[in-house]
Amino acid sequence: MENITFDSQLPTEARRKYILQNLLDRYKFVEKISLAKSLTGRDIYALQIGSKDNSILFTAAYHGMEWLTSLLLFRFVYDLCEKVEREKEYRYLIKKRGVTVVPCVNPDGVEISLVGPNAAGKYKSLVEKIGETESWQANARGVDINHNFNAAWENLHKREIKMNIIGPGRTRFGGKTPESEPETRAITNLCRNRYFEYALALHSQGEEIYWDYENKTPAVSKQMAGIMAEISGYKVSRPEGLAVGGGFKDWFIDEINRPAFTIEVGKGKNPLPISDLNPVYNKIKDVLFFLTKFKS
Ligand SMILES: [Zn+2]
Repeated sequence: MENITFDSQLPTEARRKYILQNLLDRYKFVEKISLAKSLTGRDIYALQIGSKDNSILFTAAYHGMEWLTSLLLFRFVYDLCEKVEREKEYRYLIKKRGVTVVPCVNPDGVEISLVGPNAAGKYKSLVEKIGETESWQANARGVDINHNFNAAWENLHKREIKMNIIGPGRTRFGGKTPESEPETRAITNLCRNRYFEYALALHSQGEEIYWDYENKTPAVSKQMAGIMAEISGYKVSRPEGLAVGGGFKDWFIDEINRPAFTIEVGKGKNPLPISDLNPVYNKIKDVLFFLTKFKS
């Protein structure tokens, strides 16, 4: 079986399918769980390693041109599986508390960013009209998934309108109602139906860790963010303006009442080049493994 070189090819749909099949063939204990279909019918799925009753959740690629985060989580799953195979400590760890990974929340957005409007199915003409698809962040009908979660959504919606963000676009339009998009519901349904001790969302870029939401934040979150910052050299930050509300981290803290974090990985201009994959992974991998071990 071929060893995957993660930075050798862009993570198009075909490449992601190839990586997924390689992973499932190699590590028989990994379970693939389909969560939902995207607007154009692409599979949104989770990879389950270990206990399903008690698990932690890692998610990536809410935003199309932040596709590097998807490769980061795939690479992490391989490394985790390797540890599970080789180290007794990890076999014990994942039996007690599993790891659930959703490597690509927004597969249409990623594909549009990588290959252009042809990836948008019946939304092709809308995407063509909006244009500049290399910097596409939204889903196939121009809704920004990380503005579509039901956390202070009305408030965010008003601020979007003030900034003249009133309809489908590449970025920052939160939809007509919260959870209007199948990609958003894939994640909210997963979180409502399962127990996750805490959750992580990867975005790019900025080398920052976000951990709080209004006065709802669990007490342990700040401590965890501090440890993650120390491990990675990333900065602990608070969101401002249009980054407040509507996002997954905020919604998870607000509704699930458990810690959730956003990590903005890497530094530079989105889309970060694929050559950044290994250096970025080397900076954050210990954070990901820290989370697999930490008891909140
Ligand atoms: Zn993002």
